[in-house]
Amino acid sequence: MLKAFTSLQLHWQILIALVLAVFAGLLSGVDAALFGVSFYSVYDFTGTLFLNALKMLIVPLIISSIIVGIMGIGSGENLSRLGGKTLLYYAVTSFLAIVTGLVIVNLTMPGIIDGQPIKELIGLADVPQAVTDKVEGKGAGDIVAVFLRMVPPNIVFAAANGQMLGLIFFSLLFGFFVTKLTGREADVMKSFWQAVLDVMMHMTNWVMKFAPLGVFALVAKVVAVSGIDVFIPLAVFFLTVVAALLVHFLVTMSLILRFVAKVNPWLHYRVMTSALLTAFSTSSSSATLPLTMECVEHKAGVSNRVTSFTLPLGATVNMDGTALYECVAAMFIAQAYGLDLTLTTQFTIVLVALLTSIGVAGIPSASLVAISIILGAIGLPLEGVGLILAVDRVLDMLRTAVNVFSDSVAAVVIARLEGEKDILQG
Ligand code: ASP
Repeated sequence: MLKAFTSLQLHWQILIALVLAVFAGLLSGVDAALFGVSFYSVYDFTGTLFLNALKMLIVPLIISSIIVGIMGIGSGENLSRLGGKTLLYYAVTSFLAIVTGLVIVNLTMPGIIDGQPIKELIGLADVPQAVTDKVEGKGAGDIVAVFLRMVPPNIVFAAANGQMLGLIFFSLLFGFFVTKLTGREADVMKSFWQAVLDVMMHMTNWVMKFAPLGVFALVAKVVAVSGIDVFIPLAVFFLTVVAALLVHFLVTMSLILRFVAKVNPWLHYRVMTSALLTAFSTSSSSATLPLTMECVEHKAGVSNRVTSFTLPLGATVNMDGTALYECVAAMFIAQAYGLDLTLTTQFTIVLVALLTSIGVAGIPSASLVAISIILGAIGLPLEGVGLILAVDRVLDMLRTAVNVFSDSVAAVVIARLEGEKDILQG
């Protein structure tokens, strides 16, 4: 039986694990135990172990892949052309995602039931202290701080504290100056970093063998805690976010694949399945990065030169699902508080969602901080975040999958615009 399971393709294994996890989580809840050990603690342990293994890969993977990528791009002129296209893609798709969310939330109005703002109806969940600590006192200054961290005073500190933008910036510079070396020094540097990257990709493949187990544990843990009941009062909000994410994921992204990248969108969805399921289970674009790179490079056939530049950058700054979610959540909370949603307010929400989605880290629940910044910008108290906490975890899984997918589409689009031909050839 186990042999038959492991001989299936990885994405099937993960999918089966995911379905089993829903049942396991519902059956066990948080309390069921065997010989005094609760199932929940087993899920928690196994899931954390898997997440740790993925996170362990990130720093060396980001550094080596960006350096190799920049070495491949070569001249400063090529780099600024590629960088320009990439940033343009990120800005346009995040904006499209936000507008999709804005239109749909204006149609469904999840914060208003029978003409009444629902704040009183559903009551505010108590905001746990951990969340309050995270979001307290956040404001526009925090967006500036994100840009300050791009140039880290201490590269080791940045790496240790998950400040990926700083790490990316350093690696970009390092890679660029490697291209200035000549002769033996240049050769040593090039083969060294290429070898590090190769080793990291092998390690990724190895860790991914455990993905079905990790995914099972992570999803069972979420289901055990949330159950199904929490969704009922927030059903309209939940479905609004899901609908908007689906429109972006299925319509906008496939139009871009079809008409800008000129590839068969269906093939791309297929090759990305394992990465999408991992993003869904881990709720972390950063933790999924190793697998995103593997799928885009080895299955979609995008060159290492493009993936190693666009994907680490995308995992940190390009978050379409997050931007969309921030907008819908802020609109929902504003509606629930009965705030008059003038055009200026809506414009502020769009703008701040766009800016903060760049700074949001690719880790679980990172959007909550960004949402509290938006609430501050439109004059609402941060307790508003309490309204969405019950369903945030599951929506996090979905938006992270959209974030990762958009990064992968970026790589395909940029590679095609750079003239690469052997992409998604069936
Ligand atoms: N969990 C998301 C990610 O890693 C970020 C967020 O929206 O909270 O992409």
